[in-house]
Amino acid sequence: MKIAVYPGSFDPVTNGHLDIIERAAGVFDKVIVSILQNTSKKPMFSMEEKVYLLQRVTKHLDNVEIDYFSGLLVNYMKNKKANVIIKGLRAVSDFEYEFQMALMNNKLEPNIETLFMMTSSKYSYLSSSIVKEVGKLGGCLKELVPDEIINEILRKIKNEGGEQNGNPITN
Ligand code: ADP
Repeated sequence: MKIAVYPGSFDPVTNGHLDIIERAAGVFDKVIVSILQNTSKKPMFSMEEKVYLLQRVTKHLDNVEIDYFSGLLVNYMKNKKANVIIKGLRAVSDFEYEFQMALMNNKLEPNIETLFMMTSSKYSYLSSSIVKEVGKLGGCLKELVPDEIINEILRKIKNEGGEQNGNPITN
């Protein structure tokens, strides 16, 4: 059984992520979408929220599982009996960092391969941070994230903004 892991922050999942997940699910027996816990950036969405959103948008894919990890990706993969890392590439700017990571992971664990999937051109401009930025500024999230989670994402972004600004509504 060929098992691949698609790691990332998914803060929150976007249509660009979902496109990679769907395409990878067509190639591998099983794809584990795994949310990174040890990120230096403070995420907006909690781990439970990220898992919930990912589960909701992938429920049509039988061979996709949502999980999370901390520590070294290669150790996590050994536990999961997976030997392929899936990464999405949007632009040349993604390349240098991903190239270094792929070589380092291969040095740590030579049996593990990194496979890069090119973004679909219609999602090449999409990232979780730009989705949060657009949402904060009151822009429309249609076509940026799956329809069924737009309201949840907007609600969260509004609550975060309220807290940061001292929540003028309850003052
Ligand atoms: P971001 O916060 O930049 O969206 P993540 O850490 O959540 O990034 O991304 C996880 C993986 O998904 C990375 O391999 C990243 O390159 C890839 N990815 C993110 N957005 C897209 C997109 N629009 N098209 C293709 N791959 C993407």
